[in-house]
Amino acid sequence: MSDKEMLYEGKAKILYKGPRPDTIIQYFKDDATAFNNVKKGTITGKGIINNKITELVMTRLSEIGIPTHFIERLSDREQLCHEVQIIPLEVIARNTVAGSMAKKFGLEEGLKLPRPIIEFSLKDDDLGDPLIAENHILALEIAAEDELIEIMEMTAKVNDFLRGFFAGIGLELIDFKLEFGRLTDGEDGHFIVLADEFSPDNCRLWDFKTREKMDKDRFRRDLGGEVEAYQEVARRLGVSLETEE
Ligand code: UDP
Repeated sequence: MSDKEMLYEGKAKILYKGPRPDTIIQYFKDDATAFNNVKKGTITGKGIINNKITELVMTRLSEIGIPTHFIERLSDREQLCHEVQIIPLEVIARNTVAGSMAKKFGLEEGLKLPRPIIEFSLKDDDLGDPLIAENHILALEIAAEDELIEIMEMTAKVNDFLRGFFAGIGLELIDFKLEFGRLTDGEDGHFIVLADEFSPDNCRLWDFKTREKMDKDRFRRDLGGEVEAYQEVARRLGVSLETEE
């Protein structure tokens, strides 16, 4: 990796300068963190699995007309992407109550919502990623109104599609987090695409039959079996885990 210029190191990924202008390489690590970095650990092989699951999901989403930053997978842990300016929002879609929503409103995990929710958190570790309303986003000029509308429409479409996609392999899509960015080579810099990753690190997937958690909650809540759960999600998706390592 020493031949590549590092741009940024995050909790689960490293970003390097890409081989062409306006491209970056996402390198997926095995590091896992939770509760705003308070809990740290490793999930062996996670980077490889998440790289490959993200490749599959981004490819399917672009097939249904969602523009994404993904270009191609380069290796076990690397994928080539368009460079974007990340909009500092965690865009969360929820179909069933879990996690912070259960806690905040005193609700039981597993309560099915009559309609999906799309909510936003400000991406700011120092502030603990606070929930932020659409009015705040517009008044603070974090995103413009047309951008916010586009983000919400894309998120709803992603949710509709992925619910069915995961249901087809016996997994209930409880909730997930997306990040969006402005393409740096988009016309006047205002072309919004889905960025970051989609993997069991940033969604909740419950087995329809057993109700078992097949996502990062296994790590967050010390349930054990996180490697096996991530592998099982990949297996059901038909993602090959044969590696070069
Ligand atoms: N999520 C994420 N990164 C975050 C916070 C949440 O990827 O920094 C994902 C999380 O995996 C879940 C969804 O967003 O699928 C909703 O998370 P929630 O708000 O319930 O927070 P959590 O319980 O994870 O703290």
